[in-house]
Amino acid sequence: PPLSHLHPMRALFKIPRIRIEACQKSLHHLKCCFILFASIRCLVKDYECRPHACELLKDRMVARVKGQEPQLAHSAGRTSGPSPETITNELQRRFSDQLIYTYVGDILIAFNPFRLLPIYSTEHSARYHGAWRKINSPHIFAIANAAYQTLLSQHSHQCITVSGESGSGKTESTHWLVQQLTALGKAENHELPEKILQVNPLLEAFGNASTTINNNSSRFGKFLDLKFTSTGTVVGAQISAYLLEKSRVTRQALGERNFHVFYYMYAGLALQKKLLQFKLPSTYLRDWESTIQEQFRNFQMYEYVQPVSDGVSNPWTTAAALLQLRPGDLTEALTSRCVIARGETIVRPNSLQRATDVRDAMAKAMYDRLFCWIIWRVNSLLQPLGNRAVRNGMNTNFHVSILDIFGFENFRKNSFEQLCINITNEQLQFHFNQHVFTLEQIEYTKEGLSTRPIEFENNQPLLDLLLSRPLGLLSLLDEESRFPQATGGTLVDKFEDNLKSKYFWRPKRMDLSFGIHHFAGKVLYDAMDFLEKNRDTLASEVLLLLSASKSPFLAQLFSQPFTTPVLVGQPHFVRCVRPNNACRPDCFDREKVRVQLRYAGVLETAKIRSQGHSHRIPFAKFIHRYYVLAFPANDQPLASSDSVRAVLEHVGLQDWLIGQTKVFLKYNHVERLDRMLLVME
Ligand code: ADP
Ligand code: MG
Repeated sequence: PPLSHLHPMRALFKIPRIRIEACQKSLHHLKCCFILFASIRCLVKDYECRPHACELLKDRMVARVKGQEPQLAHSAGRTSGPSPETITNELQRRFSDQLIYTYVGDILIAFNPFRLLPIYSTEHSARYHGAWRKINSPHIFAIANAAYQTLLSQHSHQCITVSGESGSGKTESTHWLVQQLTALGKAENHELPEKILQVNPLLEAFGNASTTINNNSSRFGKFLDLKFTSTGTVVGAQISAYLLEKSRVTRQALGERNFHVFYYMYAGLALQKKLLQFKLPSTYLRDWESTIQEQFRNFQMYEYVQPVSDGVSNPWTTAAALLQLRPGDLTEALTSRCVIARGETIVRPNSLQRATDVRDAMAKAMYDRLFCWIIWRVNSLLQPLGNRAVRNGMNTNFHVSILDIFGFENFRKNSFEQLCINITNEQLQFHFNQHVFTLEQIEYTKEGLSTRPIEFENNQPLLDLLLSRPLGLLSLLDEESRFPQATGGTLVDKFEDNLKSKYFWRPKRMDLSFGIHHFAGKVLYDAMDFLEKNRDTLASEVLLLLSASKSPFLAQLFSQPFTTPVLVGQPHFVRCVRPNNACRPDCFDREKVRVQLRYAGVLETAKIRSQGHSHRIPFAKFIHRYYVLAFPANDQPLASSDSVRAVLEHVGLQDWLIGQTKVFLKYNHVERLDRMLLVME
């Protein structure tokens, strides 16, 4: 049976879920997973009763630091030139002044400061409540405010997209956004904002891991939807997770760890280690024991572990007991399979390799479903109180969603996961372009202007190459995955035969590689494991076995999908940037930043902004400010299109547009006009 129910993000971006290869590893990891089941109900139960308890799960950063905010300068007008050099210089200057936020056009660039800055206090938060953007320094709070105000004024669903590479500060930014949005939407239920914020430690325990570049790296994408009444009171929340990197359960790259929760369990299970035959790494114990062990005592783990701690030493029976299966059934499901030949069902033994793959696929599927279940359960706790809302005549159909998404990835070796992530980013870029141009178009039309003299790199042809049916890259991959004899080589042949485009190439003398020219740069993919990852099958024997477990919880996990629908709406963009690889607060690695700005489409945005007429100034305001450039100072010219034209022609600017009530200017026009004013003074 198909395991992969259509994931919400897949539906949104129309890309396949990450389907991860089966791989070899000892039974050890699977065992961790079994024990996880025993503990998870307690964890979530505990969260239900006392969300505060989860606070201790992670030593998270609390930045309610009071103090003076550094004087942030407005930067909107300064990043006018499209030159990467100019933009990088400006950002570096601001970074060294601890000004981590900068607007480039419609988007907020957020540098990870790698230190606590005193800019998130309640006073700071209040400063951005309902404030016009230009009054305050650029800030993540301003983005939350903009989304909130637009929600209220336009009654349309808002979406804030937070993207950037690992360790660039996406999850922290999301945290500040949620904090500001819940502060703006003063909840009647005072526990609610706290509850929403407290979901993070729980999800991070199961979805985050230490990697070589971020010791608390989110290994899933998150879509958090805050629900409001029509008058702007926050009443509930809903989370969707996608692309959980479940392969981490069975294999981690050198220097990386499994998901945090396994280490929490190690620590919690210290007393039980003999009975469970854990080879307990003592370093983890030292790391976690002091803070976590007490938690696990609270979560009553021991009770759950007790039934199997009767001296059984065989891992099969331990695992089977924890999963509440008959040991024989588990062995059979992992070591054999049913095949239908000439109408008869025959049982065939699995090779060692196949049995290993089945076991790993089982561990990954259990973890994935467990994760989905946690989110489903948390969502049911964060739902608006239906009856009360109805009684009070509330319409809770107003949403602000926050998308915490992986950035564009280009490693030395790029596989199926990178392709999925990069296609998602490609879709986002398209979405971004649409947004910028659609809004511009509306403004132009409103002002009676028919032309729209903006050129930009439209990535639609590339999206067609990747997503069209039946001859797009993903369709071809799906088709090839159906052939049992297909290999990485036949797949790349198929791509080469069908994808005739300047965005696709196949390097010579590299049989299993193909290249895609993404908007953010050229990426070489290694097709070696694409087919297995795309198939992502769980043996039907295993699926049946698990859905028939005597544990109602496990049976439930494998009998129903736990998905949540995703909404889309008017977008706001936050692009996070990591200033250096060393997590240092005082280091600005120019090359690293430049590459990220390119991947994030920032340079493109600046270009769009410099080509487009981003300043749309009402005639009266323009004349009031600039008439002295063309008229005697004691004159009072009419606020008309003729007066505006007279000024612009007099000073010799070109490429401006005059609408019915506003003049359309470029960033550099405004700069030049202001400079002329200065010279006159
Ligand atoms: P990502 O989600 O992009 O991988 P995180 O949000 O986990 O990155 O950030 C990595 C680390 O950087 C955090 O654990 C925190 O220590 C630090 N950090 C990120 N943003 C900020 C910020 N605004 N202020 C202070 N430290 C930050
Ligand atoms: Mg993260």
